[in-house]
Amino acid sequence: MKSLEVIIDEEKEIFVHGRSYYYTLQPLGIGTLYVESLTSYVRRLSLHHNVRIQHLLNDIMKSYQNDKSVVKCHYKYGINLNGNSYTVKCLVEALSQKVCNSQMRFLTLLHLKNKPIHAGMKRTEVWCTECYREMQLNHEELYEPLIWYLIYIEVCPKHNTPLVECCYCSKCKSDKKIKRGLHNIYCVDCNSKLDLVQTKKLDVNDERLKYQQFILKKVEELIVIPQSLYINKLL
Ligand SMILES: [Zn+2]
Ligand SMILES: [Zn+2]
Repeated sequence: MKSLEVIIDEEKEIFVHGRSYYYTLQPLGIGTLYVESLTSYVRRLSLHHNVRIQHLLNDIMKSYQNDKSVVKCHYKYGINLNGNSYTVKCLVEALSQKVCNSQMRFLTLLHLKNKPIHAGMKRTEVWCTECYREMQLNHEELYEPLIWYLIYIEVCPKHNTPLVECCYCSKCKSDKKIKRGLHNIYCVDCNSKLDLVQTKKLDVNDERLKYQQFILKKVEELIVIPQSLYINKLL
């Protein structure tokens, strides 16, 4: 639990001005434990613009002025966009300006002072099938909360079920990673729409389930408090 004992940084306000360069897409779950991850936001933004995610990332960074050397840095789309590294900080600054929204940093762990926090992030994507089902039933866009990417989180706090790491594709006949659309999930290999029924869940026993409750309380403080402080300042 050592790496969860972090200090919340008094992150400087990012001032944004002008008009949004991209569609004004609101980040989801702001102010809650289910706040959207930056990976998810960038993915949704690319789908709305109908461009490849990598092209969007390049476009976000191409006019970044604060540190010219960073622009040359190759930003790769992945779950590493959600931590608190310097490159994430620059991406958040660039994106905040382009979408005219100063809340982008809450989609990452930038407000945590201990650096780097990569050790606390998962290396592969996992998800909660029930959460996706609820979003689909409510006709909402599918999004991935930041908490799914924290290495300590193995269970969905809303549904108390283990997170999922693979989905069975009846066409390819094996466990596959998934590709996310705005409203549906697809097989990365054959592009079939997946029904999420047959999934490979993380192995979480009863003892670990109890431990998860403890971890989740800690994580809630780390993720929700900085957002609440910011929202209260606006009131
Ligand atoms: Zn869930
Ligand atoms: Zn397939």
